[in-house]
Amino acid sequence: MKVYYHRLQVELTRRCNQSCAHCCRGDAQDIDLTKEIIDAFIEKNDIYYISTLLFSGGEPTLNGEMLEYFVDKIIEKDIDVYSFMFGINGLSYSQALVDGLNKLRDYIILKSDSKRYCPGILMISQDQFHKDADPQVVEKLSQLSYFSPIDKHIMKEENILPYGRALENGLSRQDPDLSELIDYEKKYKIKEYEGDTYLVIDYQYIAANGNVINGGCQSYDLMDQYALGNVKKQSMEEIYLKGPQKRRCI
Ligand code: SF4
Repeated sequence: MKVYYHRLQVELTRRCNQSCAHCCRGDAQDIDLTKEIIDAFIEKNDIYYISTLLFSGGEPTLNGEMLEYFVDKIIEKDIDVYSFMFGINGLSYSQALVDGLNKLRDYIILKSDSKRYCPGILMISQDQFHKDADPQVVEKLSQLSYFSPIDKHIMKEENILPYGRALENGLSRQDPDLSELIDYEKKYKIKEYEGDTYLVIDYQYIAANGNVINGGCQSYDLMDQYALGNVKKQSMEEIYLKGPQKRRCI
């Protein structure tokens, strides 16, 4: 069965070099995405297409090597990607991360046979909670065609997610909502097309520890608690087509 992603988000690390008061993840953890997890994910699944590839953390630049490794695997397997998108906090620079993104940009443009559209966006999160980005990091990133200019803004209370440190600090107006984590049936479909069967996934989050999650806006603890499975143990076909008890991986 081929796997088709509308959105796939890959958590590069749970480490971070900030401790923002509004962080929905909670306290940082000393966990990095590894080659073993990436290999298991790529080898166990026949990935046909990724419309939007997102990277996240933690702070992604702290494990830029695994972004480059992941991109190398995508290219090796000739997986179609339409675009990429993600944010960093601007305090640290990773040449491996930039090398990986440059490869991904060139690969997307080559495969799309078009030189006109922007294949991705890299941005720096800047608001009242994040520290100001390092000017030297900004200077280096400004050379990249996919770097989005800094937009320093005030994050409104209604946009702060009610998880992790934001919940502890009472910064959000929203109530926690676990439906995104639990309602996995709404997030995938099985489709037949020209003799092939496709597992079409609307949105999926692969955590740095390999857990597969049906949502990526919660704390690490909640995401681990409601994980559907783990890429080291199961393929997406096994995770989505078996019963919920077998899927749950805590
Ligand atoms: S919001 Fe981002 S930069 Fe801030 S502590 Fe959380 S992961 Fe780190």
